[in-house]
Amino acid sequence: MNYDHIFQEAHEAFLYYKNVSGKDKADFLRRIATGIESEKTTLIPLASSESNLPEGRITGELGRTVGQIRLFADLIEEGSWVEAVIDHANPERTPAPKPDIRRFLTALGPVVVFGASNFPLAFSTAGGDTISALASGCPVIYKAHPAHPEASKLVGQVISKAVIDSNLPNGIFTHVEGGIATGQELVKHPIAKAIAFTGSFTGGKAIFDLANQRAEPIPVFAEMGSVNPIITLKNKLGANIDSLAKSFVGSLTLGAGQFCTNPGLVMVPSIHAETFAIAIKKELEDIAAAPMLHEGIAEAYYSALSTLQDKKELEWIQVSEAKDLIQAYPALAKIKAKDWLEDDHFQQEVFGSFALMVVYEDFSELYAIAQRLHGQLTITVWGEDEELSNKIDLINLLEEKCGRLLFKGVPTGVEVGFAMQHGGPYPSTTDSRSTSVGAYAIKRFARPIALQDMPNALLPDALKEENPLGIWRTVDGEFKK
Ligand code: NAP
Repeated sequence: MNYDHIFQEAHEAFLYYKNVSGKDKADFLRRIATGIESEKTTLIPLASSESNLPEGRITGELGRTVGQIRLFADLIEEGSWVEAVIDHANPERTPAPKPDIRRFLTALGPVVVFGASNFPLAFSTAGGDTISALASGCPVIYKAHPAHPEASKLVGQVISKAVIDSNLPNGIFTHVEGGIATGQELVKHPIAKAIAFTGSFTGGKAIFDLANQRAEPIPVFAEMGSVNPIITLKNKLGANIDSLAKSFVGSLTLGAGQFCTNPGLVMVPSIHAETFAIAIKKELEDIAAAPMLHEGIAEAYYSALSTLQDKKELEWIQVSEAKDLIQAYPALAKIKAKDWLEDDHFQQEVFGSFALMVVYEDFSELYAIAQRLHGQLTITVWGEDEELSNKIDLINLLEEKCGRLLFKGVPTGVEVGFAMQHGGPYPSTTDSRSTSVGAYAIKRFARPIALQDMPNALLPDALKEENPLGIWRTVDGEFKK
């Protein structure tokens, strides 16, 4: 299929939309949020039936989706996110006069967004990627995920209605359905200026490679696999075996383990390994089987477990066997650190509620594990303050390996706010400098431009001398309003 018409329309819309005021863009986003709320009695059961996720979970996700839309609306209405910087001219400077230079962030252009299967609302049609792109001033060509086609279409209609009600041009949002070939055509289209993706490592890496093979390579913000290690230290674990087992199992089995922040690896000191394994097993016994998103995902889960079952280094604490094509049962296996260190296969993500317990003998073995870890979205360290205080080297190393380092609680449950970082070093994402959750996700879809000696009347409002937007700016090195 030829997508020229869609991209041409998106480009025309871009030339208009990028200059629409933050206030008007915010009104547009708020219309989307209100539109989603007004469809909730249809949307919640629809998304639930298509994804196998319970209505309670979808209700929560709808709240999160409209909450994040309103966060972006507030951000762009306030306006300081554009990082305006002004260096005034100095014609008297010798030997050469200094020009007036003003820099800010401007929208990239039409963006292709791939919806995720595991969040039919919050990372889908009007999810964080679409909304942060629209907030920055970029039109979105949205590749729907086939796991929830009708919910996706309905939200697409809500966005299209908000476009009309806001008197914006059509090309600002386009909902595209199709398979892998469709996605590839969208990535290759010369008018596309960036890609956002959430899904598997295989899919994300293929799209990244394709985008880099284009005559004009473009940025790909792909959020892919992560095993989100939890590192337990001796004193903390010894004093809290039962409560930590409960927290761990709660996080592991949440949503049948279908979260990118699901903890798939837990490091345990050998002295407590046996008792912790028993406590976890006891908690797991209370967990009922849960349906996975679709049969393909359940099949991938059981196929990954079956490959691991052939590995002689693993001791199984809880085995999960497919009793039908969709239900997932949690599983847990144990491995010695020295064996884990020998084979990178042991840190591959198994999407679902499986975790590997890595048993370490001493600090040097734990440090070796940390050195070997691939890039992660999150790493969690459970330690008492005094045992953390003499492990600064370990903490320094862990900071290099992840986007979010936690010292309490569990990695599932990602706050949507200003300080959130959801994105880590490769292979958890293709660009560790960005986040796909939280207010600063907007920066993925903007680039800096410097305007030199531009007449004040022509400058964008963010850079005009009189600061008509009243935003925070860095003026001659001083941060002020
Ligand atoms: P996926 O297979 O990576 O697919 C995501 C989207 O990318 C789909 O729209 C898919 O198209 C498209 N796609 C995949 N490969 C492509 C390629 N080579 N070229 C162009 N487009 C491509 O992810 P999924 O369907 O959500 O789930 C499959 C696996 O992804 C899961 O088992 C799990 O391992 C992982 N996953 C990870 C996360 C995470 O947050 N890290 C989230 C969800 C899933 P089609 O729709 O046409 O197939």
